[in-house]
Amino acid sequence: MKAIPALKDLEARLGSLDGKRILVRTDFNVPMEEGRITDDFRIRAALPTLQWLQERGATVVAASHLGRPKGTSDPKYSMDAVRQRLGELAPGVELLENLRYHAGEEGNDPTFVASLVDGIDGYVNDAFGASHRAHASIVGPPQHVPSAMGRLLQREVEVLLKLRNSPQRPFVAVLGGAKVSDKLGVIDALLTTVDALAIGGAMCFTFFAAQGRSIGDSLFEPDQVDTCKRLLDTATKPIHLPSDITGLDAAGNYATFGTRLPERAKGLDIGPGSAAEFGDVVMDARTVFWNGPMGMFEDDRFAAGTKTVAQAVADTKAFTVVGGGDSAAALAEFGLDDDVDHVSTGGGASLELLEHGDLPGLAALRENAA
Ligand code: ADP
Ligand code: MG
Repeated sequence: MKAIPALKDLEARLGSLDGKRILVRTDFNVPMEEGRITDDFRIRAALPTLQWLQERGATVVAASHLGRPKGTSDPKYSMDAVRQRLGELAPGVELLENLRYHAGEEGNDPTFVASLVDGIDGYVNDAFGASHRAHASIVGPPQHVPSAMGRLLQREVEVLLKLRNSPQRPFVAVLGGAKVSDKLGVIDALLTTVDALAIGGAMCFTFFAAQGRSIGDSLFEPDQVDTCKRLLDTATKPIHLPSDITGLDAAGNYATFGTRLPERAKGLDIGPGSAAEFGDVVMDARTVFWNGPMGMFEDDRFAAGTKTVAQAVADTKAFTVVGGGDSAAALAEFGLDDDVDHVSTGGGASLELLEHGDLPGLAALRENAA
């Protein structure tokens, strides 16, 4: 199998980068509130690649999607605020308008790809968070111009493939968040590499339902119950589920429950006992992958489980990787983002890379390597 070209390979292939026009696919899909950027982490994460290219005399043209404008020029999703912040952090870098203003982006339309590479000498993919999608700006340019992965993408791939292929043991994965269906595939894949799994967040209620426990009005996915049942029946590794839950009782008051919720009660966080237990599992590990908050942490009353797990992930001597937008936001909110080894910029992409060991964006770079 060919290797994925890195920035040095692109420089070698083009002879020199001086005066060359390089298109960089970045992931500037930043969180916004009322037209303002609330966290510029994704812009800062792209700087090493942008600056490396500029230092070698390249003219850098960045391109990203932002939100879901669905193929129309909806001003709500304009790149103006991102362009302004980018101008402060990396002066001289051009930024195209939202790629998803064009239906050809998500449709991977060859005409749109042609317009992207028009006048371009080389292409760099540094958009890890979008590399699991076969969109025009991700898989198209490598077919037309010499291409490489950027520094951010390279680090993501190194870290996540090491986790997948040769983790230090014990390797523990802690999963939470809202959507079981998005994450069931990766649970199957993770169960072949991890030594133990801990499941919190809204995800745990589909597993509770699979165990025949009552879950009240907690969030769950009825069509995934059978899959959860199969996972619990066939897993050869321990799957830790919460032993207590906090949430709201039928009257809407804060309450603590065991693992059987009364009618109309709603589970919104793992309880203190479970959080302590998950914390122990994390402290005893040598590799930890965490994706998905343990509860509805946006509400202070239901942030404790996520906070305890985040603190354990920060304190453990294990090699720690956190993936997922909301998990990363929770870490940052607790001021713990500097205490983990790697915060992935891609939620879906990190899960898919762990599951399949490859992504469409990586395959496109590899298949078109010199
Ligand atoms: P990530 O972005 O880290 O991958 P997800 O997007 O899967 O995480 O899930 C994050 C969301 O899950 C958060 O908005 C959080 O409020 C929600 N959540 C977690 N636990 C629960 C729960 N028990 N009930 C409802 N929502 C929950
Ligand atoms: Mg999310």
